[in-house]
Amino acid sequence: MSQITETPPLLAEGKTKVLTQHPAEPTQVYVRFKDRATAFNAAKTADVPGKGAMNAAMTAHLFAYLAQQGIASCYVGPGRTPDELVYQKLTMIPLEVVVRNVAYGSLCQRYSQFQSGQPLSRPVVEFFLKTDSDPLIAEDVAHALGILPSGVDFAKLRRQALVLNDLLVPFFQSLGIVCADFKLEFGVSPSGALLLADELSPDNFRLRDANTGDILDKDVFRLDQGDLAQTYQRLLDRLKASPSSSATREGTLKQCYEAQLVVRYRQSVLHPESRAILESLHSLGYANVQSLQAGKHFQLTIESEDRLQATRQVEALAEAILSNPVIEDFECVCIEPVEKERL
Ligand code: 5GP
Repeated sequence: MSQITETPPLLAEGKTKVLTQHPAEPTQVYVRFKDRATAFNAAKTADVPGKGAMNAAMTAHLFAYLAQQGIASCYVGPGRTPDELVYQKLTMIPLEVVVRNVAYGSLCQRYSQFQSGQPLSRPVVEFFLKTDSDPLIAEDVAHALGILPSGVDFAKLRRQALVLNDLLVPFFQSLGIVCADFKLEFGVSPSGALLLADELSPDNFRLRDANTGDILDKDVFRLDQGDLAQTYQRLLDRLKASPSSSATREGTLKQCYEAQLVVRYRQSVLHPESRAILESLHSLGYANVQSLQAGKHFQLTIESEDRLQATRQVEALAEAILSNPVIEDFECVCIEPVEKERL
């Protein structure tokens, strides 16, 4: 009698990761990080023994740190081997969301005004289409391509990316590391939640030693500036020695955030004021206006430790006090740090 050996079905294979179906959990996948380095759209590649396990460990560490800070992600837990993690299966959004605090790489190539290594006065968020050539993409093009799931737009992705930046910059700072830039990918769960996905490793971050300026990321490989395996191992050692998240946040300076909150009547609610305005518009000759829902706009300035806490507080205030949840919807459409002097 022949013995049947079950190989989990291969779901996808990229340049540096392999996804296979979890045999017991239909909603989960195994993600194996390859011992492979690639750069310049795989024009430069190398086999680097141990890289997969190091990237898996750093990704797990950072997802766990972010989970402690209330950030939901695809990360479920470790896999069967050190180079493997278990993720929740998501419908991926084919976008690369890049956050930059320091000008490097393609930003300097596209805009000669930026010097490589120049700190940016405020974070820059850019969107790229996930293809072989990864071109910059405008929101209208993303809509036209139909790649944005319902309820997700660039403003929402940008807000989430900036929340993550507000958590990751001080985290790395506490390790004596400058988080110069990073690339994020997001997916949507079956219940419609927008979740952080992919990996968080020196493959998709630019990290520099705050004192020496040493390169601690894949630029060592891209630019032939050092040994990739040694660089990644040193970074992993620093991550493992990182203080607990609460210690990291201790002494965090409070910052002011300006939030724009929009509260509007639900489409299903027949609101007399909205109807009266719509009728006035029609009587003024604007017969083509099909519907109108009146609303309120609040601008709040909140002192908070970070953008995530500020956003949560605005949402809690909106739900409890500033809106009527029975007949109104609310949306925190924008939340940005502001200088205290502006108050
Ligand atoms: P740049 O646009 O300057 O090439 O990259 C900005 C940041 O995003 C860098 O940290 C870089 O590592 C990351 N990044 C950009 N594109 C990719 C990509 O296709 N794969 C990975 N892993 N990281 C990327």
